[in-house]
Amino acid sequence: MGDDKQADGEFTLDLSDDVRQMRDWVHDFAASVIRPAAAEWDEREEVPWPVLEEAAKIGLYSLDFFAEQWFEATGLATPVAFEEIFWGDAGIGLSLTGSCLAAVAVSSNGTPEQVGEWLPQMFGGPGDVKLGAFCSSEPDAGSDVGAIRTRAVYDEAKDEWVLNGTKTWATNGGVANVHVVVASVNPALGSRGQATFIVPPGTKGLSQGQKFRKMGIRASHTAEVVLDEVRVPGRCLVGGKERLDARLARLATGGQAGEQAAMKTFEASRPSVAAMAVGVARAAAEFATEYSAQREQFGKPIGQNQGVAFMLADMHASVDAARLLTWRAAWMARHGRKFTRAEGSMSKLVAAETAVKVTEQAIQVLGGNGYTRDYPVERWHRDAKIFTIFEGTSEIQRMIIGRAVTGLNVR
Ligand SMILES: Cc1cc2nc3c(=O)[nH]c(=O)nc-3n(C[C@H](O)[C@H](O)[C@H](O)COP(=O)(O)OP(=O)(O)OC[C@H]3O[C@@H](n4cnc5c(N)ncnc54)[C@H](O)[C@@H]3O)c2cc1C
Repeated sequence: MGDDKQADGEFTLDLSDDVRQMRDWVHDFAASVIRPAAAEWDEREEVPWPVLEEAAKIGLYSLDFFAEQWFEATGLATPVAFEEIFWGDAGIGLSLTGSCLAAVAVSSNGTPEQVGEWLPQMFGGPGDVKLGAFCSSEPDAGSDVGAIRTRAVYDEAKDEWVLNGTKTWATNGGVANVHVVVASVNPALGSRGQATFIVPPGTKGLSQGQKFRKMGIRASHTAEVVLDEVRVPGRCLVGGKERLDARLARLATGGQAGEQAAMKTFEASRPSVAAMAVGVARAAAEFATEYSAQREQFGKPIGQNQGVAFMLADMHASVDAARLLTWRAAWMARHGRKFTRAEGSMSKLVAAETAVKVTEQAIQVLGGNGYTRDYPVERWHRDAKIFTIFEGTSEIQRMIIGRAVTGLNVR
């Protein structure tokens, strides 16, 4: 029955045998390699290269693995994989999956040649692990992506683009092999005058600025990226010049620009980010539940108190609710259904807020132990907070949902 539905493209919660096998394989790696390394890399606040290397050796950190999950027929494989990775640890998880955002930015708008040339260089292989970085945010352009000031100017004589500006908050920024940069080609057009550029490895003029010391996901590198007279070949304009020129010409005659490139990237990646948050929330719910059965006060396990059990009940119910929204959005995206009610944003909003709440509740269930670094729940809570901020804050998701459900220009 489940298989028939999968073949028909109907929504089903029955995962295929392949996806279940993949889930168990990723879970094994998360339990045996990622989670034991989590506390150390959180303290070190560095890219966990040895863990990436281990993952590359078994094929988990590879373009092939992520592409296979991305193109899997039901759309559920990516959220399933991401949930398991982030169940292991969110900081290491983001180091393992951060390149995917750069890859999606190129694959969702790029030509087949660009995908073939640049995506493999964002992942590398065993013994030669590489990263990709997606650089959209700027000091004065966070939620307001339209305010991007980084400028791209075409040098026709050399068929090169010249990039100047400062990007901030870039995951893997400065340590990546390939940087994917959103820049303005026509500032008068605001967000409609933006395009995306690939900056190849070793390009002169690109440097890392400040590296941020963060509250959570500290095993993921976040930094400014400075672009000073960065020259990239014409073929590095994502989608190609012909398409850009046609879009600009349409706009000049009052036509529609089509979807904004950066927005398209975020839209496609939202259910995946939601799945990351679900992984962190599930880890906390499970850990607190096990703890509540072991820890005794007043001569009985604390979980026997309704006050604790009800909290656990809420935690598990909200994790499952967040996962269902996530799977719905992932399924819709895979089947080309338009998010008419902003279902992608719904999944990201609910999963992010759930992760923050559930990890906070887990600290409460563990009492004093929950507040120490001897137990992982305080780290999970610090990690969870990022999901309400990056890839569109919770307020921005509510704005998008608000617009979709009211049809009004909610600001
Ligand atoms: C660890 C980390 C990793 C990141 N990785 C990347 C990356 O790889 N690539 C990248 O390009 N960016 C990345 N970001 C940037 C991230 O996407 C931005 O931080 C986010 O979009 C918010 O922008 P901002 O920080 O400038 O906050 P602001 O936009 O200044 O927002 C501040 C507050 O105001 C609220 N607000 C703003 N506008 C409105 C409005 N219209 N209505 C209601 N409330 C509003 C926001 O919700 C928020 O609460 C990362 C950020 C962090 C912290």
